[in-house]
Amino acid sequence: MIIGLTGGIGSGKSTVAHAFETLGAAWVDADDVAREIVAPGEPALLTIQAHFGDRVINHDGTLNRAALREIVFNDPNQRQWLESVTHPTIRERLLQHLERLETEGAPYVLLVSPLLFESGQNTLASRCIVVDVPQSLQLSRTQQRDGVSESQVHAILAAQLSREQRLAKADDVIDNSSDHESLMKQVARLDQNYRRQLND
Ligand code: ADP
Repeated sequence: MIIGLTGGIGSGKSTVAHAFETLGAAWVDADDVAREIVAPGEPALLTIQAHFGDRVINHDGTLNRAALREIVFNDPNQRQWLESVTHPTIRERLLQHLERLETEGAPYVLLVSPLLFESGQNTLASRCIVVDVPQSLQLSRTQQRDGVSESQVHAILAAQLSREQRLAKADDVIDNSSDHESLMKQVARLDQNYRRQLND
């Protein structure tokens, strides 16, 4: 059983994933996989290099993310091309990781993704959890964690679904506006539900 886990930046996705892990569940982070598939030696990196040229490759052979971002930020067609290369590869690799974790004995696995619904990765999951906080908390926790300005957080928020849009798509909601104890209680309740469903 694959459970999607999403929420806006700073909502508490990583914190929730680690809480589930303490109860025996396993998780994969879609952002980690997105980086993994463009590591040196990966077919997707070679395809990107062949398309954009050496200007998107650093001297050490790694992807020059800033250069690539600059190109696709200014050209929607190139952005679309890039996504047509990376999205199916990310999806395939995510499934490989999720299946491996299940064969290693996890009762269910979490797919942690900030853009779960935006990317269509929710279709890999049988249920989706949304971690929910008011925007003011999202801003303050992200600023504290990353040392970034309020306007930088707002720019990231603009690329994500609104709180209302995300909540409308949720099967399960975790309210992370309180303390860690309240969070753990909600995680434990969901963990019990998922285990019960597995046994049904
Ligand atoms: P995300 O993965 O969604 O970006 P994180 O899990 O990294 O969010 O949480 C953002 C920040 O808020 C982190 O520094 C985390 O330690 C903190 N945090 C998460 N949940 C709580 C909470 N219930 N109370 C206080 N701080 C929290």
